[in-house]
Order: sequence, then C-alpha cells, then structure tokens
Amino acid sequence: MFMPTRREDPADAEIASHKLLIRAGFIRQIARGVYTLLPLGLRSVKKIETIVREEMDAAGAQELLMPAIQPAELWKETNRWNEYGAELMRFQDRKQSDFCLGPTHEEVITEILRNDVTSYKQLPINLYQIQSKFRDEIRPRFGLMRGREFIMKDAYSFDVDVESATKSYKIMYAAYEKIFDRFGFDYRAVEADSGNIGGSQSHEFQVLAETGEDEIVSCKGCDYAANVEKAAIRVSQEEMDASIKFLEMSEVETPKKKTIDEVSAFLERDATDFVKTLIYVAGDQFVAVLVRGDHNANELKLRSLLKESGLDVTEFRMANDVEVGKMTKAPVGFAGPVNLQMPIYADLSVACMKNFVVGANKKDTHLTQVNHGRDFEVSKFVDLREAKAGDECGKCGGEFESFRGIEVGHIFYLGTKYSEAMKATVQDQNGKSCALEMGCYGIGITRILAAVAEQNHDDKGIMWPSAIAPFQVMVQPLQMKSDEVIAESERVYSALKAAGVDVLIDDRDKGAGAKFKDFELIGIPLRVTIGARGLKEGMIEYKKRSGGDLEMIPVGDIVERVISDLKVAVN
Ligand SMILES: [Zn+2]
Repeated sequence: MFMPTRREDPADAEIASHKLLIRAGFIRQIARGVYTLLPLGLRSVKKIETIVREEMDAAGAQELLMPAIQPAELWKETNRWNEYGAELMRFQDRKQSDFCLGPTHEEVITEILRNDVTSYKQLPINLYQIQSKFRDEIRPRFGLMRGREFIMKDAYSFDVDVESATKSYKIMYAAYEKIFDRFGFDYRAVEADSGNIGGSQSHEFQVLAETGEDEIVSCKGCDYAANVEKAAIRVSQEEMDASIKFLEMSEVETPKKKTIDEVSAFLERDATDFVKTLIYVAGDQFVAVLVRGDHNANELKLRSLLKESGLDVTEFRMANDVEVGKMTKAPVGFAGPVNLQMPIYADLSVACMKNFVVGANKKDTHLTQVNHGRDFEVSKFVDLREAKAGDECGKCGGEFESFRGIEVGHIFYLGTKYSEAMKATVQDQNGKSCALEMGCYGIGITRILAAVAEQNHDDKGIMWPSAIAPFQVMVQPLQMKSDEVIAESERVYSALKAAGVDVLIDDRDKGAGAKFKDFELIGIPLRVTIGARGLKEGMIEYKKRSGGDLEMIPVGDIVERVISDLKVAVN
C-alpha cells in the first residue's frame, strides 16, 4: 500500500480538509489547483462515484462519457465563447483551430441530442457523466475545494414541455437528497442564482461548515433557505421618523480612518448611523450605490436593477482605485453622495435614515448630519442589499439565521436557453416543432471528498463515514516477529475480506504508536489490534475511530462483531 503520511501541516493549507488530505496521503499537488489522487484518495472517490451512480441510475438517468476537449464552434453558437471569460481553459490545435477544456457540457450534450432526437416520443431523456472538468480559477485554494481540474458528475435532462421538465427537475432534487443523505452530510438545499449557466430556477446543496465559501440564510419560521446572493428579504419601507429634526450638515476630520469600523470607532457612532458609498462601472457609465454601514451591496440585485434601467451590464464591476479617485477627487475610503456627479441608487434601508455619516469626497474627511433630499438627490430607492442573519424572510416574515456552506451540488432549470440558441427542436404531440426544455445537474465529486473531511475530523485526523472510507477496517498486528500474532492477524484479515469487508492490514514493521497515529490520521472507521499479550488470554483489542471505549473481544467473536457494526453503520 502506497500511503505516504506526514506529521507536518503543509505550509500553504488554510483549512482542515486541505491539511488532512495531504497529511493522510490522499492527495498531492502537482501545480496550483491541480492534484493527484493517491491510492487512498482514489479509493474514496470511487466510493463516492458509486453512490452517485446508484442514485442517478435509480432516478432513470443513463450514463455516457463526453470528451473533455470541446470545439469553440459549439460555444460560439450559444455566445458563451465570449461570455464565459477567463475561467474557460482555451487552446489551439496545430491548425490554429480554437478549443476549450470543458468546465461544463451544455453545448456538447445539446449537439448530441439535436442530431438524434426528433420526436417527443423519444423524451424524456436524462443523461449523465462522471468526468474531469477544467476551470482556470483566478485563485485556486483550499485544496480540492477550488481546484482548476476536478471531477464532476453532470447530468442533463430533456423534455418536450415545461410541465414534464419541472417533473425531471423534481426527480433530480429528490435524487440529490438521497445522495447527500448517504454521505451523512449535515446540509441544506437552498435557492440560488443561476450565474453563467443561466435558466430560471436553481438550487444549491450546501454542506454546513465554518470554512465554507458560501453564505446562506435560512428562515426560523418556514422552510425557506437561500444563498445570500439570492435570498429574498422582506423590506418594509419604513416611514421616516418625523419627530427627528434635520440637523446642520458639518465636516469632520477623520485622518487615515477609511473603513466603517475605523470611522465609527473614531467618531463613536454606530455602524448603522453610516451610509456607505460604493462606486460601480456599468459599460461606460459610473453609478454610486448607497447602503447602510452594516450592510453589504448585493451585486446580483444591482446588476439586474441597472439592466432594467437600460444600462449596459456586459461589463459590470466595482470601480478601481484610480477611477474612484478621478470621480470623487479623493482617495478610496472617503467617497460620499454629496456633490457626486453620477446617478445614485440607494438601498431601501437608507430611505428612512436621517442625520447620517458619509464620506466627504475629500481626503481624511467625513460629513455628519447628512440627509438625502436636502443634501443630495437619490435617483431610486430599491432593495439592493445582501440578506443577513436577523433580516425578515421574504416568504413569511420570520427571522433569518445564517450559515456558511460548501456547495457540493447545484441543479438548474434551464428552459430553452441552449436549445433555442442551438436549434435543438422536436415535434410535439400536435406535430409542431418546439425547442427542448432542459435542466442540468452537477455534483462536485472531488469536492465531496474534501467536504466530508471538513465535516468529519478531530485534532488527530479524519473520521470517514464507512460508506466513503478508503478502507472500513484496519487490522494491526503489534509484534511483527511473533508467528502467533501474524497468523491470527492474517486469519482475521482473510475472514473479513472473504465477507466482503474493505480491510487493510498494517504489516509494516513499525511500533504500536506509529500504527495508531496513522490509523487516526487516515481515519479508517474501525481498528482490530492483535497483540501477544491479548492473545495469551484469547482476546483482541477493538476500537472505533469515531470514539467509544477500547473493547477486548474474544478471538472467536471479532469477525462477527466487525461485520455487525459495519451493517449498522451502513444502514
Ligand atoms: Zn420564512
């Protein structure tokens, strides 16, 4: 067995799963965000794939395998060759033809379907594959969580109409719940944005973890949960408190205090008394966005607002330092709405604020007792902010709580976005030609390996659920020079193997301490430890990685005990 374990954390690893997968000998990095799966890692990945395959097949999907290499022509048909941006790994062949390494396969699968499916009678169809995907991440990090090459399961459904396509979406949703239940995850299915995949409806499956990159909110009052990018907040437009008088605006010096935290501490005023001014660029137009000091702007909401207002949002981003300096005549950190020459959009929560603090568009200076309507005009008040804990649920008005999550699955209802662009049509029941209704459904296979480690570990190592553990049991002979110990260890090992248990025997000539440490680091669920002293009394040591007491089991009962414990773990 090639299982090179290490005692030291890798220097570049920030989160537990990244550290432990390297230390336990599951993965090795070969380039930034590009990893080898070592034998232990591959064994677990194969088990993850098996569970995913079983549930996809049970849900009526069929497996195929598409190429990783995709011609640019297909991506040009849907305009994603332009839209996808720098994350698409592009290359040319020797004839200077353009290709990419697929990050996703909507175009390829649609190409396959449009050539061979012509009638509604051939539908519905759901096809999936498990394959390496490529994405040129600007910042690969967290090991397998955000790599540039990774293994995904991606499925694509095709239906003749919306009703049938909605059914396909629900079938996949249910299959995903079964899959993530089998991994033993603590997870939430949340409403999500469709990003550059497109479509009208989508859900993310988020594994709860402190180190997750996504922030999600869920309602205490109903079952609504969503990514904060997407979460619908109930924003009651509060009345301005008429009893509070407008005070006279005044300038205050705030030397080198740029962030809300710094300025609020310096002026001894709460962050909720501040209004942040953010400058964005949409096409060739600058716009200012105002949110309360303790709120974050939601760029997705903002983008759709600007699009509705008729602005070009193909290029939409925050202004850089140079642009902010030019537009506000002040360094970054001192932007404010007073005398600012650009359209100003304000979040609804700003509408009822009075006598607030803003940047003065002047170095080291802020303005206090500022009021909209009097000191500056707002083009429009709209819901522009990200949801957070304590906000009111958009569905029922209940209170949101927030979690961090790791996205392990994402399903999209695509509609006809791809089929219309690529002219993938079928004859419907009335002989009419119609575009295929599509859905697509992803699961991050290698990311699941990391997410399981993130959710199941202690300070000694990983604690795999037995469904995904590279091996279920480790047999540890303690004295490699004792014929009796070796013979008994091999008997237990062979009996477990014959019973179909994934068992590993640690017959390295190492001390008990090293063997225990590796067992804990690698995270095999059960250990059976055979030593000369125990055997004299006819006993074998037995322990679970997840905790519990060390037990002494009679030699004749050990195999049966292991098998029955594994059955409980599986069910
Ligand atoms: Zn609710």
